[in-house]
Amino acid sequence: MRLPELTELVARLGLPKYRAVQLGDALYKQRVGKLEEITTLPTEVRERLAAEGYGVGLPEIVQAAKSVDGTERYLVRLADGETVETVWMPGGDGGERGDGSEAAVEEEGEAGDPDAVETALGGPTHRGRAAMNGAPGLVAARRKDQYRDSDSLSQNDDRKGGQSDDAIGASADGYKRATICISSQVGCAVNCQFCLTAKLGIKRNLTAGEIAGQVAAVLNRQHVRIGSGKGVETPSRINLVFMGMGEPFLNYDAFMQSVHVLRAMGIPESRMTVSTSGIEPSIRRFAEETVRPKLALSLNASNDVVRREIMPITRKWDIAALLDAVGSIPLGKREYVTFEYVLLGGVNDQPEHAREVLALLAGMKAKVNLIVWNPGPGIDFQQPKPEDVSVFHRMLIDGGIPTFTRRPRGRDIFAACGQLKRTVDGPVEPGLVAISAAPAAV
Ligand code: SF4
Repeated sequence: MRLPELTELVARLGLPKYRAVQLGDALYKQRVGKLEEITTLPTEVRERLAAEGYGVGLPEIVQAAKSVDGTERYLVRLADGETVETVWMPGGDGGERGDGSEAAVEEEGEAGDPDAVETALGGPTHRGRAAMNGAPGLVAARRKDQYRDSDSLSQNDDRKGGQSDDAIGASADGYKRATICISSQVGCAVNCQFCLTAKLGIKRNLTAGEIAGQVAAVLNRQHVRIGSGKGVETPSRINLVFMGMGEPFLNYDAFMQSVHVLRAMGIPESRMTVSTSGIEPSIRRFAEETVRPKLALSLNASNDVVRREIMPITRKWDIAALLDAVGSIPLGKREYVTFEYVLLGGVNDQPEHAREVLALLAGMKAKVNLIVWNPGPGIDFQQPKPEDVSVFHRMLIDGGIPTFTRRPRGRDIFAACGQLKRTVDGPVEPGLVAISAAPAAV
């Protein structure tokens, strides 16, 4: 429930309006896990809410795996016992680089490139089409060693207990922000051939509360306090990516409702990115939203023939239809649409594919995130060769598309999204540890 819905609820119960504000504060600022913890409400009001069937709760973190790079991967149990995965990435995942957002400017500025901030703000430092558009492509263009060094960009450990959001900014652990990757469905129906989650099939959609609840559970576990509690627009240094299990655009209403709830938790939509495999009608709905996270389209192929092979959903909506829908989104002045491209060795990573990508994205305010495919059990693809990744990256840059090869996070604790969940019924993978429930909110 958002504040307007809480307001309706208290009105229906005949309670004064300020009770809705108290409820909102408890749920979204304090992130309480139980109705009894809302001590600003008199006992009789809490009892009445419970009697009317209203409950307060958070998903429970029941298993975790921790990487040497600080990434924590959680198995999160929902009220009905189903589980999804959520990932905490201190230092961010770098996915926003080049998209013109506040988070991207921070990230690029902190990465040590003296031109990064100026460039991300549209400075006249890049050549070609990117420069003409004020595109933030220079950081990737100059960092030839980005792929090789990406593992070393963030090193953290577990010494950050009791931090506030401000404390994140001053962390001695060397990171100034964090990204949380959240799931939108239990499993997924889209069946991308390179994805381990696809092998789980689809069980059900998450509710808006379950989507936003993952964030609350992780923030509580990490002792992060966001904002002052005075309003929903308080900036935070938490970025969210809807890139976990499931296709958010096949659970569109709950996804959008969760966006509003997460804003109430103090995370602005400008710090959220939703990734879609390409659900064309939902992209068009998304284009109409007044409150809208950033969009990332999982392109993953340079033509329909290859895309149909690796993403069967292409049979329903081809690349042309998707690009047309993406083109209907009214972008902000500095906003870029991100195209995610998982490089699969010998499948979509050759120079002819790079040329086709350039032709597809010509004239669009687009940036590309290249992702080196991670192997997973039972998935029959090859990792791309590092030299092919470099050539592909270079060709896109030289063609004027801001391009970034994503830093791999938590490589030692997972091979692909879905792996943690798949261990629940099978043998525990090395590196996974059973943990107790998340600590209480602070
Ligand atoms: S990549 Fe995303 S959309 Fe495709 S099967 Fe995996 S979770 Fe679903």
